[in-house]
Amino acid sequence: MSAPMEISFPNPPIEPQMSESNGIIAESAASSIVNEDKILVSVEVCLKSSSTSRIEDVRLAVERMLEKRSLSYVDGPIPVPLDDAFLTENVHGIRICDSDDGVQSQDILLFWQVKPVVHVFQLSEEGPCEELGGEGQISSFNEWILPAKEFDGMWESLIFESGLKQRLLRYAASALLFTERGVDPFLVSWNRIVLLHGPPGTGKTSLCKALAQKLSIRYLSRYPHSVLIEVNAHSLFSKWFSESGKLVAKLFQKIQEMIEEEDNLVFVLIDEVESLAAARKAALSGSEPSDSIRVVNALLTQIDKLKSSPNVVILTTSNITAAIDIAFVDRADIKAYVGPPTLQARYEILRSCLQELIRTGILSTSEGCDHSMLPNYAGLKERINIPETEKVDVPLHICKLLLKVAEACEGCSGRFLRKLPFLAHATLANPCTGDPSKFLLAMLETAKRDRTEL
Ligand code: ADP
Repeated sequence: MSAPMEISFPNPPIEPQMSESNGIIAESAASSIVNEDKILVSVEVCLKSSSTSRIEDVRLAVERMLEKRSLSYVDGPIPVPLDDAFLTENVHGIRICDSDDGVQSQDILLFWQVKPVVHVFQLSEEGPCEELGGEGQISSFNEWILPAKEFDGMWESLIFESGLKQRLLRYAASALLFTERGVDPFLVSWNRIVLLHGPPGTGKTSLCKALAQKLSIRYLSRYPHSVLIEVNAHSLFSKWFSESGKLVAKLFQKIQEMIEEEDNLVFVLIDEVESLAAARKAALSGSEPSDSIRVVNALLTQIDKLKSSPNVVILTTSNITAAIDIAFVDRADIKAYVGPPTLQARYEILRSCLQELIRTGILSTSEGCDHSMLPNYAGLKERINIPETEKVDVPLHICKLLLKVAEACEGCSGRFLRKLPFLAHATLANPCTGDPSKFLLAMLETAKRDRTEL
């Protein structure tokens, strides 16, 4: 992810030029609220775990800092100013985050066009609190206090093509607003249930977790306490159906207690909802005890009950589109198909992997390959058209090789792409040289060989 460029203007511009086609931030912000002709851009400020300062004080300090600086707004981290003792003592990181799906644009919004909306938060380091399903069973649900350290950066690392992330964010924002304003559900109907479906490893579960994390940060002032309850539907229906009923009851009793506190925002993530349909089908065919059908029905009834609570969002995933319980599909308001990444998304995922290996010194920069200089997909397309002699940063053949690897990975999941650099590294006879070209060739070979296995 490219860091925002810093641009200084000796004199403020006389007539700010604002164009709606100003690139990715402009596009996403064009549909967000425009205040006094300025575009609202989210700035997330992560406090250090040692910070005990008031959130409000930090927010004001960041707003003052942003006012003083001549910043351009492009997604990514902004350095904490070293000469600001209060911010360096309290702030771990500042990030601008409004663009669409991590597919970067070279275009930028300049500081006078933008009104930053600052969200200050501290990450919870508590980790998941596991609930055991029953004797010898795997856990039936995990509970996370949000925003959680484990999900930090997850949203930014997920790359999809068609505005999916922004769509989900806007959907959740509308749903929470309608509930908050008390819109009568008999007159305008909406649920707070999201269903993501598609092949395994395409980032559905991660996207649900990252969305919950993002919303917990954006709605912190309204809901100071957010939690994510991660339920594995498969484990609910795994072995002992007589136990399952108790598990569902226990789970929803816990959720109910949480949502009774109106300061709490509760996200319930139900993974692999296709197992609901499987359990129902098995019960009907007589191959499973009829207990299972009661459990599925109990689960659906409980979900319906939750709908009346304003502060709960239900996020669900399924790997098998065709097999999702129809009763469930009907309940979901937003159903999004998450397919294997496109060429552009594959290139971006692999680019971020390579940048990380360069950052950590596993790949060397001896060929002038600085990790912040690998062009994004749009930049690469432009570069291919520029004569080689004009280039000073990353050699073009490296970028082209990266594109070749992305092309060779057609149909592969995001999970496979994120694993590929590791698999390729393990095949190198002499990995210590850290030569990016050799490494990319190894990636190409590994992709061709292993894509059938994964
Ligand atoms: P699913 O729920 O669809 O099976 P996961 O959310 O478990 O997929 O994804 C597994 C991992 O694969 C993620 O943690 C992430 O590292 C990687 N991944 C999958 N899809 C993407 C994507 N579109 N962009 C970036 N990384 C991805």
